[in-house]
Amino acid sequence: VLIRKPKNVAIETNPNHELNVVDTELPEPGADDCLVHVRATGICGSDVHFWKTGGIGDSIIKSDLGLGHESAGVVIKIGSNVKRLKIGDRVALECGIPCSKPTCEACRTGRYNGCPDIIFYSSPPIHGTLRRYHVHPEAWLHHLPDSISYEEGALLEPLSVALAGIERSGLRLGDPLVICGAGPIGMVSLLAAHAAGAAPIVITDLEENRLAMAKRLVPRVRTVQIQRDADAKANAELIKGALGREAKLVIECTGVESSIHTGIYASCFGGSVFVIGVGKDFQQLPFMHASFREIDIRFQFRYTETYPKGIMLVTEGLIDLKPLVTHRFALEQGREAFEAASNPSAKAVKVQLLDE
Ligand code: NAD
Ligand code: ZN
Repeated sequence: VLIRKPKNVAIETNPNHELNVVDTELPEPGADDCLVHVRATGICGSDVHFWKTGGIGDSIIKSDLGLGHESAGVVIKIGSNVKRLKIGDRVALECGIPCSKPTCEACRTGRYNGCPDIIFYSSPPIHGTLRRYHVHPEAWLHHLPDSISYEEGALLEPLSVALAGIERSGLRLGDPLVICGAGPIGMVSLLAAHAAGAAPIVITDLEENRLAMAKRLVPRVRTVQIQRDADAKANAELIKGALGREAKLVIECTGVESSIHTGIYASCFGGSVFVIGVGKDFQQLPFMHASFREIDIRFQFRYTETYPKGIMLVTEGLIDLKPLVTHRFALEQGREAFEAASNPSAKAVKVQLLDE
């Protein structure tokens, strides 16, 4: 056992919208589990949302809730049935744990993100991985090669969302593509779509600094700054101008109603708008426009079987996640980290908490 620090520091929120850096019990791994020293965890928009608003959809915080689900670390103790991993192995943590029963249709058919009994760390009431020591089932730990840093390992989680979306979107070589929104999800979608051969690619955002970051990641990307006050059709004209044509595929990474409209108006006949962003419970659609142009509108919920692909894409140099981390804090600096992640003036893309 390699317990190098005595305190199991964790970052929690509660129904009073407090953000607390707390000392928690050191957990003991069960027979099929590993105890992981979590070395890097990214803050996701949903972590900030749970803290600020107390819930997302039907997931409501009713007691203390540990945050975090974008993590990588090192195995420091193993349960008696653990065979594949050993102490000292560096791992990325896949944080949705489905039931994996053959009687579960979602699990049996390989769409385990739809398992009705899935446990997702950081979704109430299950504590997240933004803590020093965390017990994780061996089956959902992905071994990292030495060439992948803990920071990159943690970024495999948002990358997974993009990989799942791009796979289901049916993107093909040479497809003219629009990505709406240049937040972390838009950026990893950009990296993945670039690697997958989309061409040309336009990315949109309201914020100039995010578009500048997108351009640094993929110099050939064309950027469009969306005008807040302009209508969706006018913004779609800007996009089509930059793309030089209409989009075969739009990957929507904001969930904002006006942006989804813009995506629909920017699409070609028979094109599709693949919505990764999440937003308001009920939204309107330019229904007849989409209908008369056979525009498919589809959605993504998390991911299945994306970590091995993400590891391979990073290892083989097709995707470089490193530039996405703009702000780093020690685990004990949880408050400062969440401040940077939630205050637009910090101009953060991805904030990570690191532990030596
Ligand atoms: P983010 O808030 O950091 O990024 C969203 C970006 O969109 C921001 O840069 C913002 O300036 C930009 N934006 C806002 N309105 C816009 C508009 N009208 N036009 C163009 N750009 C606009 O969030 P993120 O972490 O990048 O996540 C993006 C979305 O994906 C969120 O809705 C998030 O909840 C969702 N998400 C979905 C899944 C899933 O499984 N489907 C998983 C993770 C995240
Ligand atoms: Zn299941």
